[in-house]
Amino acid sequence: MSLSNLFILLLLLIPVFSVSAKTSVKVLIVPGHDDGSWGTEFLGVKEADMNVKLALMLYDRLKQDKNFEVFITRDWNGYKKEFADYFQNNEEVILQFIKNSKEKFDDKIRNGEVEEFENVYHNDASDGMVLKLYGINKWADENNIGAVIHIHFNDYPRTKTHQRGKYKGFAVYIPEESLKNSKASSPLGFFVFNSLFKNYYISDYKKESGGVVPDQSLIALGANNTLNTRSVLIEYGYIYERIFSTYYKREAQMKRMAKQTYEGIKKYFDYLAQKPHKIGA
Ligand SMILES: [Zn+2]
Repeated sequence: MSLSNLFILLLLLIPVFSVSAKTSVKVLIVPGHDDGSWGTEFLGVKEADMNVKLALMLYDRLKQDKNFEVFITRDWNGYKKEFADYFQNNEEVILQFIKNSKEKFDDKIRNGEVEEFENVYHNDASDGMVLKLYGINKWADENNIGAVIHIHFNDYPRTKTHQRGKYKGFAVYIPEESLKNSKASSPLGFFVFNSLFKNYYISDYKKESGGVVPDQSLIALGANNTLNTRSVLIEYGYIYERIFSTYYKREAQMKRMAKQTYEGIKKYFDYLAQKPHKIGA
């Protein structure tokens, strides 16, 4: 082979090698609560089940898109084996992780580096759920997850729980700015918010009325600096709202919510890919 032929051959080969393997973004979907502690409930419909249903719809959407590699913590059969095993085999490690992270964060508050934030009131998670949620954060960072999406339906403390409550609408929670994953999570939260906003009202609960709500205390968002990667928690609406009042209404709404959440996530990562820095956690 002559030198010029070799040169041509090399030229032909270059594009093959220079097309960088576009790596897909790993997305972890977390349907809020579980069968042991199912969040809120309205007329026999449990939040944990609504969360799974919507989460699986979102899972299917992301799975069809080769730009994403998608994971989910649980489905109708409970926790996926990978997560059930992880919680079981790492209990001590996770407890230590919680303890260390809390101590560090409390120090930051004490020495004035971090200001304690006035969060929207949320029910405290049970001990078992606390362990799982921190475990999910740890797992997400160990597995290079690019975004964690927490799925919830809302409620608030009220006495006549068989009657409809007074608030309606959706809200997207993002890590408050003192948390280390805040900068990366905020734009993702705004993209998802924008997409849902096309069809849904923002929550009319005063503290959620900004639509995108920063929070320092939600474990799902990386409380006590326990998460490096992006995380958003979506409250899709109040569980008692009329748009969810029958099986078919719920089904139709959830399909649309899943579609629009997917589009928000996709648009965010498309936007990120156009910027001259790398996608990833
Ligand atoms: Zn919830």
